[in-house]
Formats: sequence, C-alpha cells, structure tokens
Amino acid sequence: MTLLSATAAPRKTFYYGFRYPSLQFAIGSTQPANDLRIDVVDSAGAVVKSFFRNDVAPDATRTIRWDGSATDGRPARNGHYRFQIAPQSAEDTATAAGKPATRAIRRGSSSSQAVSLSFDFYAFAFPVLGPHDFGDSGAHFGAGRSGHTHQGQDVMADCGLPLVAARGGTVQYSGYHSAAGNYLVIDGRGTGLDFLYAHLAEPPALKAGERVRTGQPLGLVGETGNASACHLHFEMWTAPGWYQGGSPIDPYPFLARWDRYS
Ligand SMILES: [Zn+2]
Repeated sequence: MTLLSATAAPRKTFYYGFRYPSLQFAIGSTQPANDLRIDVVDSAGAVVKSFFRNDVAPDATRTIRWDGSATDGRPARNGHYRFQIAPQSAEDTATAAGKPATRAIRRGSSSSQAVSLSFDFYAFAFPVLGPHDFGDSGAHFGAGRSGHTHQGQDVMADCGLPLVAARGGTVQYSGYHSAAGNYLVIDGRGTGLDFLYAHLAEPPALKAGERVRTGQPLGLVGETGNASACHLHFEMWTAPGWYQGGSPIDPYPFLARWDRYS
C-alpha cells in the first residue's frame, strides 16, 4: 500500500474553529478494499485521536475531519500535529483502539502529488487582527477608575481592525451600554468562562443565542461608549459567568500567551 496524495488543511487551526483540521488522501493498493487507521499525532509522537476507515478503495479521495478533541473528549493541547495513515493491525481490528500503528504508509514512489500532513492547532485566537499593544498601566486589570476598578485589559489598536472570537461558543449578550459602547459577551465553549468585547465600532451583527466559532469575526475595533482612544476592552469572567455570579479575572496572561502564536 502506498500514499498517492495527502493534504492537511488549513495550516493554522483552532479548537471549535471555523474550519476543522482536515485531511484529504488517496492510497494506492493492489487490493480493492483496505482497512485503514488514521491517527492525529502530536509533536512528541503521541497519538491523541484515531479514526478507523474500512474498505477504502485505491485511488479514491477520502476526507478525515478532526474536531480538536483528544480521545478523552477534552480539547487537545496547543501545538504542531500531523495526520498519520496506516493499515489497521490485527490488534486494531479486534479492539478498534489501543497502541498507535507502527507502520505508517509512505508516499508512493510513482506519485508526483504533494504529501503534507502537518498543521498547527490552538485552543484560543488572539482577538485583534493587526498591530496592537497593551497600553500603559491604566489599561491593565485592576487599574483605578472613578468609583470602581478596571475589570479587563485594554488592547490598543487602530479603529477598524477586525476583532475575532478568542474562543467560540454561544453569544450570551449583544447590545449597547453607555460605558462599554457596542459590546458582546460570549459563553466560551468548554471553558466555563465568559468573554466580553467592548467599544466595537458598530452594533454587533451576532445576537444572543447565536453560535460563534473560535476566530470568527465579531466586528471592528472602535471607541464607542466611554473610550478615549480606539481599543478593545476585553474581559474574562469565571463560571458561572458574567453577571451570573462569576468574577472578572485578569485576562492579560491569557492575551499575552495567545499573542505569541496568533
Ligand atoms: Zn478597558
């Protein structure tokens, strides 16, 4: 058995994102039906998820889509991953689980098509697409305000830059407030956290109850409400959530980490 073609796309993927990591492949084989195992393998070589496909015909393109969940159902860790395609071992056939297959199928020598199996996977996206900074001390969580403290982190960026969902989920609130301006609260899928985005240039197109994917556009950086400059005011709230009994936490360490890769 040989691998005629295999392409993983897109190159950068997010948990609960717009596009799941997917693999398109075709095998060459003298047998009309082939039982295959496709593993998602992390950079340390560990199998995080396995797919079993039986009776795969040669020269037929098949597609595998991975939702970013590990075998235990939890989101996989950030990192570099690859798909690995192999014949199912007798052991796999019996148990449909277990150890990774040892003999990955290699690219066919007669093929000129590309074999690219790797991609990057991240749990969160940085919410501002474009140049930005984290402002002075007044932009940070806990900074003094008249009568209260700053409950989020400001991300200074030009008005009009796209904002995207750091983590997808369900829109909990979408509206306008005299201080927050146009703003949006998203119940982040699988996190227990709520994410708030404020001062959007326009009223959010997404309405309460709508689903949103990680990395999905939310609107544009603005300065609506009580803002003295164009920026995103970003909050993170612990479970059970924003104005549901949760508390705001300092989002800066999270933002700084996401900023390093997205
Ligand atoms: Zn702010």
